[in-house]
Amino acid sequence: MISFIGIGSNQSEPIKQAQQAIKALTTLPDTTLINCSSLYSSSPMGPQDQPDYINAVAQIDTQLSAIELLNNLQQIELSQGRVRKDNRWGPRTLDLDIILYDNQEINNLRLTIPHYGMKAREFVLYPLQEIAPQLVLPDGTPLSQLVLACDKNGLQRVK
Ligand code: ATP
Ligand code: MG
Ligand code: MG
Repeated sequence: MISFIGIGSNQSEPIKQAQQAIKALTTLPDTTLINCSSLYSSSPMGPQDQPDYINAVAQIDTQLSAIELLNNLQQIELSQGRVRKDNRWGPRTLDLDIILYDNQEINNLRLTIPHYGMKAREFVLYPLQEIAPQLVLPDGTPLSQLVLACDKNGLQRVK
């Protein structure tokens, strides 16, 4: 299955965190890293009293189920020092979200796919467009249409 993973960090050298996460994706079982976007800097969502984020989107080809993939991604988050806190959208060393999984729509207690925020998040849409410009979402929406409607909000390519 082709899947796109959103990567975000704003703690403990975010560029290094993102690069280490990309490396970790290459070690996932039954998975190949196909492509990865540039690294971007973005303004934080929610609480503004935290550093800017580094974001990227990676494309993988995996035989893991969506839930197995989530388990593996959460292991990578933990191994890079992610501490789950109560404050939503607070600072973190690493966030790995499943943006898309195959052409599937999944809704259960642990997973919402496509990621519920992807249509409105510049730090997901622009990196995704860089590596998959022709992409169409499971509901038929072309990615290009979402990008056109999404303000860059200061998003910048950094690496
Ligand atoms: P946001 O979801 O708004 O990007 P976040 O990434 O900071 O916020 P997390 O604390 O990383 O949120 O994850 C909270 C829960 O979201 C996870 O425990 C996971 O079960 C659930 N979740 C639901 N859909 C997804 C998805 N597509 N990718 C990753 N986690 C998901
Ligand atoms: Mg997230
Ligand atoms: Mg997350």
